[in-house]
Amino acid sequence: MTELSTAPGLSTAPGAPAPPVSRAPGGIPTEVFRKQLAEFSAARGELLAADRWESQDPPVRELLGAAGAAGLFRAAWAVDEADRPRALWHAVELHTAFARLGNGAPGAPLLTHLDVATRLLATLPAAPAGLVERALDGRTTAALAVTEPGGAGSDLASLTTAVRRDKDTLTVTGEKWFISNAPYADHLLVLADDPEAVTGSRTGPALLLLEATAPGVARETLDTSGHTGLTGRIRLDAAPVHTVLAPGGHGLLRLMRHWIHERVMVAVRMTELASAVVDHAAEAAHHRRTFGSALIANQQVRFRLADLSAQVLETRAAVHHGIRLLAEGGCPMAYAAVCKYRAAELLRTAADEALQLSGADGYRTGHPAQRALRDGLGLALAGGTDELMLLQIDRG
Ligand SMILES: Cc1cc2nc3c(=O)[nH]c(=O)nc-3n(C[C@H](O)[C@H](O)[C@H](O)COP(=O)(O)OP(=O)(O)OC[C@H]3O[C@@H](n4cnc5c(N)ncnc54)[C@H](O)[C@@H]3O)c2cc1C
Repeated sequence: MTELSTAPGLSTAPGAPAPPVSRAPGGIPTEVFRKQLAEFSAARGELLAADRWESQDPPVRELLGAAGAAGLFRAAWAVDEADRPRALWHAVELHTAFARLGNGAPGAPLLTHLDVATRLLATLPAAPAGLVERALDGRTTAALAVTEPGGAGSDLASLTTAVRRDKDTLTVTGEKWFISNAPYADHLLVLADDPEAVTGSRTGPALLLLEATAPGVARETLDTSGHTGLTGRIRLDAAPVHTVLAPGGHGLLRLMRHWIHERVMVAVRMTELASAVVDHAAEAAHHRRTFGSALIANQQVRFRLADLSAQVLETRAAVHHGIRLLAEGGCPMAYAAVCKYRAAELLRTAADEALQLSGADGYRTGHPAQRALRDGLGLALAGGTDELMLLQIDRG
């Protein structure tokens, strides 16, 4: 009988030939980067151990520092326009590799770091000089604070956090929550309403840079079912604005462009998390015995795993098309939404079924499917919910 994990072509692990890349000056070829990632993880078993990422105080700064020092962020960084395809595929490699480390948990702060502390900040001309460079080296990090406890996550026109002028100083007052990397950030990018046009000539949401340790800024780690220890609540009480990154009326526009990129990258991460749990489930089904034979001996089990493998391959193909569109500089917002929506659906299904296949063992904290299910539910909300993705797809 053909066993799933040994059948040619059925493993969902990527490992396929690297997509074509341009090799701009300073860029390293994809194969070299893959090797670098493998060496990085092999040397940091303790840092990447799954149980450390189940605590309320996971080693986020240690990981970012180590990854920066090893050059992993710079390897996924485009030095110029022509270098963008190579950098994007390296980011895919990075998220793919980290989906299989520490039950996928350490991949979350890395994604936020790459997308917010380096990529988003670099698109904002007003950002202080040197900030992106330091983040690329893993010496500083930043968080993007948009969502509010009152429910401004989907409806960003109803922000209650606001910026005001107090003599010569701009200050922000309000509250944000579920902010990825907030407990570990040096800088906060805060979306705040500007009802009096104090940041420019228009009213509406402005994007502001705040020092995370400034007076009036209080942060605490949230107690959540997934993304354990990785998101935070921020209270702002007349906290001073360091820099206006985008003035009133322009903040959202900047973020809409940012979210196209981030949603495709989150879709990469979700697809690879799904791939990892399906492969783990297939492997475990060889060892688990019921009614005198290996679980994998049941055709129903093999068909289920084969169907999940097919879904992973289909979603990966769709998401990689999103990366190609980003590389060409023109991924439509609706397509990024398709990627995120489909990958979220895949991750939930794969994690749910992988957990069921593992029996009670799968229900244990520390089991890859259980962690993926908890994180998958959060990823279906983060950066825009499934329903918001459907709204964007509907609009076209
Ligand atoms: C793990 C994780 C990480 C996160 N990281 C960040 C971060 O770094 N920065 C940040 O700012 N936020 C972050 N968030 C918050 C996330 O972006 C929001 O939770 C999300 O945008 C939804 O906003 P909300 O929670 O306010 O829900 P609401 O906007 O109140 O929505 C509640 C429900 O109503 C649905 N809904 C809303 N409008 C409609 C509609 N018109 N039609 C149909 N259904 C609708 C929503 O889909 C949702 O199911 C994170 C969340 C999680 C779980």
